[in-house]
Amino acid sequence: MAELVAEADTALIPPHGGKLVDRVAKGAEREALLERARKLKRIELGERNLADLECIATGVYSPLEGFMNEADYASVVEEMRLASGLPWTIPITLPVDEEVAEGLSLDDEVALAWQGQVLAVMRVASIYRPDKAEEARKVYRTEDPRHPGVAALLASGPVYLGGPVWLLKPIPHEKFHAYRLTPAETRAEFARRGWKTVVAFQTRNPIHRAHEYLQKVALEMVDGLFVNPLVGTTKADDVPAEVRVHTYEVILEKYYPKDRVLLGVFPAAMRYAGPREAILHAIARKNYGATHFIVGRDHAGVGDYYGTYDAQKIFDEFAPEELGITPLKFEHAFYCRACGQMTTSKTCPHDGEHRVHLSGTKVREMLRRGEMPPPEFTRPEVARILIEAYQKLNGGSG
Ligand SMILES: [Zn+2]
Repeated sequence: MAELVAEADTALIPPHGGKLVDRVAKGAEREALLERARKLKRIELGERNLADLECIATGVYSPLEGFMNEADYASVVEEMRLASGLPWTIPITLPVDEEVAEGLSLDDEVALAWQGQVLAVMRVASIYRPDKAEEARKVYRTEDPRHPGVAALLASGPVYLGGPVWLLKPIPHEKFHAYRLTPAETRAEFARRGWKTVVAFQTRNPIHRAHEYLQKVALEMVDGLFVNPLVGTTKADDVPAEVRVHTYEVILEKYYPKDRVLLGVFPAAMRYAGPREAILHAIARKNYGATHFIVGRDHAGVGDYYGTYDAQKIFDEFAPEELGITPLKFEHAFYCRACGQMTTSKTCPHDGEHRVHLSGTKVREMLRRGEMPPPEFTRPEVARILIEAYQKLNGGSG
C-alpha cells in the first residue's frame, strides 16, 4: 500500500522549481522564533502583504521562500524570470516606509505583524529602493494611477525589504475555513482521488454559464477540476468573495459530479496585471498540483489596459517545459439558439442574432433591478444569489 501511495505522489506534477516550499515553523524552532520575535522590530503588514506571506509560507508561491531580494526583483521586472532563470512574472515584495527601513541592517530579523499580532519572522537579506514607474510600466503595462494594481503599487512604501520568512502562527481568517487548502493538502487530495491530470480554474467572478462551459469542456479531457476562486483583496466594485463562493457551492452541488471536482480558495490578492498575472496564476496552480490551467479572455485584466487575448499570448514567451503547467486557451463562450447549446466562435457558425450575449454592465444592471438574466446566460440558482447580494449592497432598497 505504501508503495502505491508513493507512486501516486510522484505521478503528480512537480512544484515550480522542483520543491514545495514550507515556511511554517514547527516545534523547537518555532518556540525559539516566537521568543526572539518579542524583541524584534515590528512591521505591520497590509492586506496584500499578508496574502503574499500566506502564499509564500504555504508553498503557493514555490520556489519563493520569502519576499524578493533586489536581484530577483530586478530580474522579474525586466526579464519575467527569477535571478535563477526560472519563469516568474510578478514581483512579490515587502514595501515599507522610510521610517521603518531606517536603522535596519542586513541580517537583522524583523517581526511581521497583522493587527498587532506577530505572525512571522523575516531575516532581512536585501534593502532596496525600487523604480516604481519602471515596475508599473513593465508589470502593468501602464503608469496610469487609475489602474487598481498601479494605484496599490504607488500607495505602498518606497523601500522594499527582501528575505526568507518563517510563519509562526496561522494567518487569521474569518471565512471559508472549509475551503482553505494548502498545496500540500490539495496534492494529497488529488493523489487520494487518483487524479493524474487536473485542470485549475481561477476566478474573481460569480459563475455564469460561460465559465461552467469552459470548466466542463476542460473536464472532458482531464481527471479532475480544481475550482480555485481568488478570495484575497479585490477592487471595491468586484462581487464580494463570499457571494462568489456561494454561487460556486450552489452550482457544484447541483450540476457537477462531486467526485471529479474540488473547491478550494486562492488566498492571493488581485493585482489586475493581466498577462503577467495570468502566468503567476498558472504557476500557483501548478504548485497546488494542477497540470492544466484555463486561460479565458482578458484573464486578470481590468478596463482596456490589455488586449483580449494578451494573457493567452504571453504563455508563448516561455518554453512549455519551463512552465510545466499547460494553459488551455478559451475564447468567449455563449449560448447559441441555432446551435441549441453553449459554444464559442471556434465552433459556432451563426451570427450575433442567434447568440445570447449580455455585457457585464448589462447583467449587473439587471441584477440590481432584481431581474433574472436569461437562463442561457446565468443559471437561476446563481441569479437569485446575485440579486439578493445586490439588494443588500443597495441597503435593501431593491
Ligand atoms: Zn450557433
